[in-house]
Amino acid sequence: MKQIFIAASCVLVFAGCSPSNSPSPAEESQNVSHVNQEKAGGKGLGVVVSFYPLAYMAERVGGDAVRVTNIVGASDPHDYTLSPRDIQTFQDADVVLLQGAELEPWGDDIVQQLSDQGTVTIATENIALIEVDDDHGDADKHGDEHEGEDEHGHGAFDPHTWLDPVLAQGMVSSVQSALIAADPENADLYTANATALTTEFAELDSAYTQALQNCARRDVIFSHDAFGYLAKRYNFTAHAIAGISSQDEPSAKTLATLKEEAAEGITHILAEETSVNRFAQTLSDEAGLAMLPISALASPDEDGGDFIERSRDNLVQIQTALNCTL
Ligand SMILES: [Zn+2]
Repeated sequence: MKQIFIAASCVLVFAGCSPSNSPSPAEESQNVSHVNQEKAGGKGLGVVVSFYPLAYMAERVGGDAVRVTNIVGASDPHDYTLSPRDIQTFQDADVVLLQGAELEPWGDDIVQQLSDQGTVTIATENIALIEVDDDHGDADKHGDEHEGEDEHGHGAFDPHTWLDPVLAQGMVSSVQSALIAADPENADLYTANATALTTEFAELDSAYTQALQNCARRDVIFSHDAFGYLAKRYNFTAHAIAGISSQDEPSAKTLATLKEEAAEGITHILAEETSVNRFAQTLSDEAGLAMLPISALASPDEDGGDFIERSRDNLVQIQTALNCTL
């Protein structure tokens, strides 16, 4: 009888220690931290995040002590509608990480719904945000047909802090604090992992600084207005076809303005694979601009590319677009 009991409990422990029997390649490559077998039941802290950069940071900082769920998955965080199941997932979480600055159109609602649980951390809460410049914001695009969607548009501040390797370090710090507050037993692990990730972002910052300091041009056009922090950090100007939300389509006026600006010394469009790509193609054809691919890094890479690697890929494209020499 005793033997049977031991055998059964081993099976249970074994199963409990393998919460993710078949991790995706992305999860596998990101789980670089040491296994913490002591976490209760081997299940880890339940961390629910609003989009990919926070999933990446939570997985890196939390290692195997956390289970990370990315609510929007591969969808565009600017334009995602929560399902009742998503809301339940947020309610069941030990830690909820949101970007804030109205990246999540539903962020305020979730903060309110979870106010009693004390689980929510806003990753940009300690970051000085840029106010949104509405020059390219096209008052006319908020016409009648969009009126009902206004609350889903951008807020007063730019939420794209993850693209700036310095501000990203502030986000890592918020993630670290949130995990430690919820699970102080693993504070040493979270601190060590956060320090390692912060070092990688600092190295990324050095690479950007070096690569973008000697450039023939200082202006480039992006698909949507996601690169404002990055451009400010490294002293170039990011023009944008779409607005702060990748879903904001440009007006004829915006496209005409971009064409005029392009004539004054822009040679490239750095294009994301988004719905505004057709406008990028038109502008490229009409203004004779070259197009290069770039990612706003808001969603996971289909090929499993790591966030930092993809940031370095972006750097190569920006270097080319600005004609920089080392
Ligand atoms: Zn965006």
